[in-house]
Amino acid sequence: MNARLSVILCVLSITTPTRAEKISLVGATVINPADGKVLPNATIVINSDKIERVAMGKQDAATLGKQISCVGKFILPGYIDTHVHFFQSADLFTRPDGADLNSVRPYKDEVAWIKSHLDDVFSRYLRCGITSVVDVGGPMWNFEVRKKANATAKAPRVAVAGPLISSVSREKLDLGDPPIVKIETPEQAREFVRKLVERKPDLVKIWYIVDKDHPVDSFRPIARATIEESHAHKVRVAVHATELETARAAVEEGADVLVHSVIDKPVDDAFVKLLKDRHVILCPTLVVFERYGRTFSHQLNLTPEEQKWGDPEVIASLDVTKIPQDKLPQRIKEALADPKSVLDRINKTYEVALPNLKKLEDAGVTIAAGTDAGNIGTIHGPALFREFQLMNQAGLTPMQILQCATANAARLFGCDTGAHIGTVENGNFADLVILNSNPLDDIAHTSDIDSIIKNGVIYPADSILR
Ligand SMILES: [Zn+2]
Repeated sequence: MNARLSVILCVLSITTPTRAEKISLVGATVINPADGKVLPNATIVINSDKIERVAMGKQDAATLGKQISCVGKFILPGYIDTHVHFFQSADLFTRPDGADLNSVRPYKDEVAWIKSHLDDVFSRYLRCGITSVVDVGGPMWNFEVRKKANATAKAPRVAVAGPLISSVSREKLDLGDPPIVKIETPEQAREFVRKLVERKPDLVKIWYIVDKDHPVDSFRPIARATIEESHAHKVRVAVHATELETARAAVEEGADVLVHSVIDKPVDDAFVKLLKDRHVILCPTLVVFERYGRTFSHQLNLTPEEQKWGDPEVIASLDVTKIPQDKLPQRIKEALADPKSVLDRINKTYEVALPNLKKLEDAGVTIAAGTDAGNIGTIHGPALFREFQLMNQAGLTPMQILQCATANAARLFGCDTGAHIGTVENGNFADLVILNSNPLDDIAHTSDIDSIIKNGVIYPADSILR
């Protein structure tokens, strides 16, 4: 073989996805956050899309198929983001109910752009080592997103909820297939759940929004009916409830998942016990709490991961100073006029949310990592690394954070797929992240990704986004 050809072959072998019937990752340190075990000098044998076995020490080469040396690397289950929304791009125009910029970019153009960029969003998740996500609410076309993702190799596995069953309406998001549907009576709730169940949702989602016109108790019978009807069809219910009393009401009525932190006051012991007794999973979504305010006040400090792997068009849109003054919504004008008070509000939120997370984790409540990506400024894919930073700030160890992002997240994902992801275990899907540096030394190393394996196919990290 001449020298030139051998160079070409060498380059090919590290820049294109590799699929072999049987491959073995040899010599890495395997980290299994499910049980906290760390296996040095381990071998993972992958047969087609599954992990055939995990073993330590020297193995019989005849049983390994094609060997890939992973000496010096760290292998983990693929990360799982349990709170994303594919109907939102994370750009400035994606929530006209929160900041109406229809006069700059009509919302229908925004939705058309989102639908035409799904493959790109899928690949950004994969680039970040995220091999599964849960979309906790969007229009009926969310079910098409799940179908598309599950038929696409370079995409995460996707679980979905359909439209949010809500205490309030959001007309500006309604182009005929609304993501948020206001439900007025328990009977209406049951009817809507029955309609959703035909589409086989992984979860039913309740948007339990409380304000002075919508007290906790007025929506409670609707939450109860939604949960009863969903459970009768063996579908779990996830609830958006960010105040302590709303979250407590949701769990007392049978909610299976809380999709955000409690941010209005410290959680009390009775609440912690309630979550534990009922085996409720809580997803903190810390990153989203800073991103609306930081974007609107022109204080957005995206991480290097977001700048590298986020969609450049989305990121460019987030500069509010590029919007003509006369087209700025009041909410953005006010934030721009007083960024300090915006940042103070964000800090106040974290002063409650971070200790709440630590208390729940210490008490043994199941925490699943999630970002709420797709909301303004919360970038699809790399937002998860900012979430990890904030969880670390709350006092969680790297191993605890990784458990939240793998084994615990797989429980939230649910169903048969959820039972076969999130751990490095015989018979599970071969969805793995290969890191260059040890994430247990520093949670920042979770983004130091060499390669990603999804469904048994290896993608060198740098080959994914072109
Ligand atoms: Zn959300």
